[in-house]
Amino acid sequence: MEVAIFSSTPYERQYLDEANRSAHHKLRYFDVPLDMDTVGLAANYGAVCIFVNDNANADVLEALHKGGTGVLALRCTGFNNVDLKAAGELGMKVVRVVTYSPNSVAEHAVALLLAINRKVHRAYNRTRDSNFSLDGLTGFDLCGKTVAVVGTGKIGCVFAKIMLGFGCRVIGYDPYPSAEFEALGGRYATPGEIGEKADIISLHCPLTPATHHIINSETLKRAKPGALLINTSRGALVDTEAVIEALKSGQLGGLGIDVYEQEANIFFRDLSSEIITDDVIQRLVSFPNVIVTGHQAYLTREALTTICETTLNSITAFEKNQPLENEVKAA
Ligand code: NAD
Repeated sequence: MEVAIFSSTPYERQYLDEANRSAHHKLRYFDVPLDMDTVGLAANYGAVCIFVNDNANADVLEALHKGGTGVLALRCTGFNNVDLKAAGELGMKVVRVVTYSPNSVAEHAVALLLAINRKVHRAYNRTRDSNFSLDGLTGFDLCGKTVAVVGTGKIGCVFAKIMLGFGCRVIGYDPYPSAEFEALGGRYATPGEIGEKADIISLHCPLTPATHHIINSETLKRAKPGALLINTSRGALVDTEAVIEALKSGQLGGLGIDVYEQEANIFFRDLSSEIITDDVIQRLVSFPNVIVTGHQAYLTREALTTICETTLNSITAFEKNQPLENEVKAA
């Protein structure tokens, strides 16, 4: 099939080209995101492939449909940027990558946690400047601490397993409890207990209307003073302004994020020569106890290989009118 790939990057193209050796589609790469301004590029492409910050709203989907697109393939897990109801009404199929490497994201969450707690980012900068002072670099033992996992699905369970390996107590919250989480040694708790007991909170649930800003000024007030917050899931799970206030007061002891509510305007681009007009992200990165990575938690060789193979296989299945294992529909 002719496939228009939006928001494509050089590091992904390598893996898509490799996966396409056996899939034999005609791939056309566009480095711009899909939105109302760029949707015209997709005219006459039967398949359109997008990533996390492309905008497949109802207008964009209608334009795609008019241009002959039959399948929208998300090369990611989350699908909050697609109007699934509108896609269903247009008869457009939407596929995603349900599982690629939960290890990639869970391990990145651990990397953020370790770096924030043991101030690795600060030590790295200091020693490069021949500053070997240890002032301000004190962390705490993870062993024996209570870690809350919000969302105990695939990534949450891998994260829980790693934290249990550190000797942490792991508690979890999920409206759909999983036997796997409990078999690993995790225990389900109420949101109130998480606030009271957790030294570390890590978010692994999807962004839905129910989870939008689940971390807000109220939940932060109820958190254990000095708790660390890790978010590798979706930016809008967190009310960033409330988090900034909690960091300023010391109620929150540190923050590690790979996702940011307004990331679509910033992430995946080199803006190092430009003036950043987003004061919220600028305030965030000014804290010594905050680490921001630009949505790279999935970025391992293993994950990229699976993402690209699954995406192109789904497009092949659509082309051959075969069942779509990775189809996602409006609830
Ligand atoms: P999953 O579907 O296996 O698990 C998500 C879990 O969240 C499920 O168990 C679900 O029941 C639970 N959940 C739903 N509503 C909840 C709520 N209100 N409170 C608590 N839990 C709730 O998904 P996964 O593969 O583990 O991925 C989790 C999320 O990670 C994705 O939705 C995506 O947003 C994010 N993600 C980020 C990256 C990255 O690179 N940063 C990569 C992949 C996925």
